[in-house]
Amino acid sequence: MENGSKKVLKPMDSEQLREYGHRMVDFIADYYKTIEDFPVLSQVQPGYLHKLLPDSAPDHPETLDQVLDDVRSKILPGVTHWQSPSFFAYYPSNSSVAGFLGEMLSAGLGIVGFSWVTSPAATELEMIVLDWLAKLLNLPKEFMSKGNGGGVIQGSASEAVLVVLLAARDKALRSVGKNTLEKLVVYSSDQTHSALQKACQIAGIHPENCRMLETDASTNYALRPELFQEAVSRDLEAGLIPFFLCANVGTTSSTAVDPLAALGKIANNNEIWFHVDAAYAGSACICPEYRQYIDGVETADSFNMNAHKWFLTNFDCSLLWVKDQDSLTEALSTNPEFLKNKASQANLVVDYKDWQIPLGRRFRSLKLWMVLRLYGAETLKNYIRNHIKLAIVFEQLVSQDPNFEIVTPRIFSLVCFRIVPANNDEKKCNNQNRKLLDAVNSSGKLFISHTALSGKIVLRCAIGAPLTEEKHVKEAWKVIQDEASFLLHK
Ligand code: PLP
Repeated sequence: MENGSKKVLKPMDSEQLREYGHRMVDFIADYYKTIEDFPVLSQVQPGYLHKLLPDSAPDHPETLDQVLDDVRSKILPGVTHWQSPSFFAYYPSNSSVAGFLGEMLSAGLGIVGFSWVTSPAATELEMIVLDWLAKLLNLPKEFMSKGNGGGVIQGSASEAVLVVLLAARDKALRSVGKNTLEKLVVYSSDQTHSALQKACQIAGIHPENCRMLETDASTNYALRPELFQEAVSRDLEAGLIPFFLCANVGTTSSTAVDPLAALGKIANNNEIWFHVDAAYAGSACICPEYRQYIDGVETADSFNMNAHKWFLTNFDCSLLWVKDQDSLTEALSTNPEFLKNKASQANLVVDYKDWQIPLGRRFRSLKLWMVLRLYGAETLKNYIRNHIKLAIVFEQLVSQDPNFEIVTPRIFSLVCFRIVPANNDEKKCNNQNRKLLDAVNSSGKLFISHTALSGKIVLRCAIGAPLTEEKHVKEAWKVIQDEASFLLHK
């Protein structure tokens, strides 16, 4: 590895790994120790890094010190600190010591577990931890790996909805004829994540057959079952084929919860695949007091939550359960000669390559297993409860200030709020809220994001970073209040 050396590269040397690994862990541990010193939202300008890095890769080895110096001086300024205790934007993307160690172990083992035979432990551990989590969520037993159901780790909720949409599409086409693609209709509320729209584009669903049913404040942006039923009936009358419903437990904009049982009944009656997207809020449902929000999940065909959001498992780790694994594999499986092996041919094993888009897959179950073992279910429940308590603190602070209002009732750990409109001037109010958002985020002291609900610009404070404590929530509110009073009295 020395400069200009003619030695053959030995890229995995145990002793070098030990030395560099220790130094990298130290570097990361120091990062966490000082994370509050950085502006939460990176303040660099587009293209900043091109000006700082050379145009081509080095011809000869550089030292770890040189690289780490560049990380400090050039990379970190361009990092938005998702693990900062003052990160309240979007939804959280948790990291933890257990999740980090699991990632490290996965990188260390360096396996590619597409078929059972390529690393039996990878497939079997994934089945086991998904069963563990299904039990914690009290999912119906049809989602467990005994029988025809089971769980799989996808990279993202977007991949999860895509694979079940493909499964549902092919199942429908098998029954109604393969030339009927243009008749297939997808339903969801207008609050559903754009991941569904992307999945429809990829799956070839005609854009005019994607029904994004309107929601409003009267149901706190939850989908009304009557609206769904009416849309299905209208489509059937028009000779179309309703085949897929995506309901939400915890929408991205405002954590709206669709009524699963009522929607599921309609979907089941009409042989419509019923998918539940609980990407963020699913984690909360391991607490008995929040489990009610997925009541009705027994009517679903598939259920998804992102362990990488609010479950201390480093990105990426999106958990998908299905009741009928055959539907997935019938849509996604291939069986080329070069992958044939005895266990697969004898149908003795699960080959997760047939449950996902890519062939290759990482040993992601390790990090979820580490999280579950090193923290335990009770600690994880309390972790969630603590964030919800902090959200209540924030909600109360907002409610006490006459310049602000809570826009939708808080359910989990997201608070949707805004500056109240003066003289009912919504346009001016939207501008003020946009300005407040920019001012708060360019302070570097915290990071919040926004959305639009019924034309109102709404600020979102999503509490869920692992290091967030009450003092961070109170400090965040102080910054928001100060910036708002500056804006309002200008
Ligand atoms: N569904 C919901 C409810 C979300 O909030 C998000 C992202 O925040 C997604 C889906 C997409 O998640 P992913 O990035 O895992 O595809």
